[in-house]
Amino acid sequence: MAFIGKPCDVSALRQLATLDSRVDRHIKLVLSFFCGGIPSHDGVGRILAAMGIDSDDVSSFRYRGNGWPGKAVATTHSGQTGEMSYAESWGDFLSKEVQFRCKICPDAVGGVADIACADAWYGGETGYPTFEELDGRSLIVTRSEIGQEFLLAAEAAGALSTTPLEVREINLMQPSQASRKRLVRARLAALTATLQPQPNVVGLMVAEASRSASKREQLKNFLGTIRRIIVRRR
Ligand code: SF4
Repeated sequence: MAFIGKPCDVSALRQLATLDSRVDRHIKLVLSFFCGGIPSHDGVGRILAAMGIDSDDVSSFRYRGNGWPGKAVATTHSGQTGEMSYAESWGDFLSKEVQFRCKICPDAVGGVADIACADAWYGGETGYPTFEELDGRSLIVTRSEIGQEFLLAAEAAGALSTTPLEVREINLMQPSQASRKRLVRARLAALTATLQPQPNVVGLMVAEASRSASKREQLKNFLGTIRRIIVRRR
């Protein structure tokens, strides 16, 4: 079977595989994605309020989709529908509600999956994605021999088509992920400095990534994380 999960789910699965041989025996392919983090449930409540929808009446809610990026859409039992652009739902609501664990995530880019996929955003004038509705395109990163074989087989079967790109272009498509990877070491150092528990990070190239962060941004993130810990704004 194949396993699809968030990068932290994949990390958990890989850890389980070191204890239980059934994992690798049965799971032949592990897929993940670049993960922006899990927002709190309250964030969805605030989106519903902005849409003018009663949360007790909601029959379905989707964060995005049916387009690229696609809108957040809520429908109710009484037939009401609310919509919000991805730029607004993510930018103004959900991204501000991401849990602390995700801010110190050492592998939000699916580094231990066989294949990790992401939105291949087009950068706007600022270099950051504009999240305008466009024809979709995806970034596919194969991270193991099995992943590469599977991708080539899928392409040979006509299931998808790909074009190669330079690794540095990934920074432009996913600037927030690139920044988080560069700065997670500084954020973890803040946990050490404040005697907080922290994840055991091995083999995720966190130290290597931190070398491309400026001292200024490292210090800013170190102090910002300390402040967050002290005031408990997690
Ligand atoms: S950001 Fe990291 S810790 Fe948070 S949900 Fe995604 S993979 Fe898990």
